[in-house]
Amino acid sequence: MAEEPPTKRTCLGVDCENEASALQCPKCLSLGIKDSYFCSQDCFKKNWGTHKNVHKQENSILSHIFTPKVVSEPDPETGYYNPFPTFNFTGPLRPVYPLSAKREIPKSIPHPDYAEDGIPKSGRSFVRANKIQQLDEKAQEGMRKVCRLAREVLDIAAAALRPGITTDEIDEIVHNACIERNSYPSPLNYNHFPKSVCTSVNEVICHGIPDKRILLDGDIVNLDVTLYHEGYHGDLNETYYVGDRAKADPDTVRVTEAARECLEEAIKLVKPGTLFREFGNVIEAHAKTKGCSVIRTYVGHGINSIFHCPPNIPHYAKNKAVGECKPGMTFTIEPMIALGKYRDVTWPDNWTSTTIDGKKTAQFEHTLLVTETGVEILTARQADSPGGPVPMPVTPETNGTS
Ligand SMILES: [Zn+2]
Ligand SMILES: [Zn+2]
Repeated sequence: MAEEPPTKRTCLGVDCENEASALQCPKCLSLGIKDSYFCSQDCFKKNWGTHKNVHKQENSILSHIFTPKVVSEPDPETGYYNPFPTFNFTGPLRPVYPLSAKREIPKSIPHPDYAEDGIPKSGRSFVRANKIQQLDEKAQEGMRKVCRLAREVLDIAAAALRPGITTDEIDEIVHNACIERNSYPSPLNYNHFPKSVCTSVNEVICHGIPDKRILLDGDIVNLDVTLYHEGYHGDLNETYYVGDRAKADPDTVRVTEAARECLEEAIKLVKPGTLFREFGNVIEAHAKTKGCSVIRTYVGHGINSIFHCPPNIPHYAKNKAVGECKPGMTFTIEPMIALGKYRDVTWPDNWTSTTIDGKKTAQFEHTLLVTETGVEILTARQADSPGGPVPMPVTPETNGTS
């Protein structure tokens, strides 16, 4: 059932259409990189100059520049294929392509400035000057509204989660729920992201691309929803258990609930005068009590009429983030917490970020408004929001020990 779609073997050689022989690259074999088949010794030698880059993949920036040639043929029955068959995946998850066709947004809905060419332009001066905006009452009202709508959309998507649904079907649900709310799904074409929501499964830290993979009983999936409505962005995410097996697995519950609690602990600090660098100290301290690590590559961010702007909010301890909370500021906190190592590896799609050891990771995010006395959680859960904390499963080992 969890089998990856089978693929026909084609020679890895650039522009070589031959069927592969049994000859595999010996270096790949020694590195544990699967499916490095060539048609002949000659073809292998001819391609060595480019092929050898594959060997540096795990630690090297090259993997972000060279996208391995798409060599796997679609499975004749389903048409599905893995676009990166030579990539050294860190865990069991694989992309299942083809992606669905680009989903359109009616022209009547206001689009952000990157919707056409993929490149965000407004707010560049704020980003360059590291200037943090303090919103007036009208802008705060705009943020309240878009964040309430974003919560509605996330809840609709979460209610559809079940074993057997694909992440692409979740994308369609999010996309349509945005349109119904006269909103643009902010991820769509942001720096060329191809879909309307990020769906991050198991070892995916963030920025997972919705595809044809079905969710399985035992998975966890993070849905990261952002809406653009009447000139403002509202951003939130939650990690959900898929099926009952996920809720019965102690490690899965440990990392997911740790991430949920880390966000709650950090939000308690938000008030005028709190330094942005403080959040990471609280988050990492709490993660450690659960035996988990904190992802360092991705940070929380300012958000208003611009999707991502200053401040930067790192989630790890002893960070050097600049600035402090002031009334009217809106930003996200979105800790990513891992069962194993904090290091990350990005797939050749240049988006999907995974843990380096393939172990599970979970994340939660809110958009927050600093008030005169504290904080307003603009994307707060409603009484009927799906998801929410689950207790640590009782197993023979944990029973009575905690
Ligand atoms: Zn988000
Ligand atoms: Zn965010």
